[in-house]
Amino acid sequence: MKPKVWVFVEQEEGKAHPVSWELLGKARELAEALSGEVEALVLGQGVELIAKEAITYGAERVYMIDDPVLEYYRNETYAHGVIKLCEKYRPEILLLGATTMGRDLAGSIATALETGLTADVTGLEIDPETKNLIMTRPAFGGNIMASILCPDHRPQMSTVRPRTFPLPEKDETRQGEIVREDLGLSENEVKVKRVGFIPKEKTVNLEYADVVVSGGRGLGGPEGFKLLRELAELLDGEVGASRAVVDAGWIDYEYQVGQTGKTVRPRVYIACGISGAIQHRVGMQNSDLIIAVNTDPEAPIFRIADLGIVGDLYEVLPELIEAIKKEKS
Ligand code: FAD
Repeated sequence: MKPKVWVFVEQEEGKAHPVSWELLGKARELAEALSGEVEALVLGQGVELIAKEAITYGAERVYMIDDPVLEYYRNETYAHGVIKLCEKYRPEILLLGATTMGRDLAGSIATALETGLTADVTGLEIDPETKNLIMTRPAFGGNIMASILCPDHRPQMSTVRPRTFPLPEKDETRQGEIVREDLGLSENEVKVKRVGFIPKEKTVNLEYADVVVSGGRGLGGPEGFKLLRELAELLDGEVGASRAVVDAGWIDYEYQVGQTGKTVRPRVYIACGISGAIQHRVGMQNSDLIIAVNTDPEAPIFRIADLGIVGDLYEVLPELIEAIKKEKS
């Protein structure tokens, strides 16, 4: 039997999370190195369209559990479904997004299957000799990259943050198989019930923003974000931040970019008053174009910037904003 590289496709209310497609792109590379197959898991209610979409992103086969018990995410029901599929089909590798859902689910699955789990990996490759999965992630405060192996247990499991790997091309003509499976769990066996749902007023879509304007300690205080927001809005982008300013309480954690924040991959990343510590860089260095504004010509951010402006952000940004406004009018 060919080794199976699996991707858990995360969906909510009929919409797949793009990290699942990014993982299918990486799964294809891993499967090629193993002469194996790329397969996806789709769980939920009314999810057949998502199963079909998984094929367009590279799944050769999709195991689908379509059941009203899976209408909304609960650890107990989703873990039950994935564990059952793993026990039946014995995949070699199982990848999940390092999202709130993926992180919650991965730990339960790994524990039940008595296998290892590497969280928040930044690199995945197959060892050409042993055919084991080499899972790379920052360790010891980001100062070293650790290569982690799980040689004795299967599946080898990883969670990967959104935007770590590029989105593969969608191919509507690709053919694949959908295998329907039963959950084998009824609602009255489930202990957790959802009694209500209060959506957030505004969700920050930092990972998938085309433009991110980030601020660091160089802003001098929380009011500096007003300027950044003005620039971000003009460019249809989002505001981001370094950890220093999140820790200082100038902005919420959901805006943090970096090792312990979000990974972004925008077309343009504008770093304002950010020194460019390694823990920040790992979250943004894959941006297409990096622009840095910093008063210190020696700031490490300039080493990865495509365009560096040595200057005070309070002088540079207002001029930039004025120039963009003029261009737009
Ligand atoms: P600073 O390093 O203080 O830099 C401020 C910069 O602003 C300086 O370069 C200065 O020259 C410049 N400046 C000052 N005034 C102006 C001005 N008027 N105009 C323009 N420039 C100006 N950090 C993250 O960002 N994300 C993470 O996820 C993260 N995770 C971490 C995890 C661990 C385990 C550890 C140990 C650290 C982590 N850090 C993270 C912290 C990281 O090491 C740095 O401390 C942090 O990124 C520094 O933030 P900063 O660049 O805003 O501040």
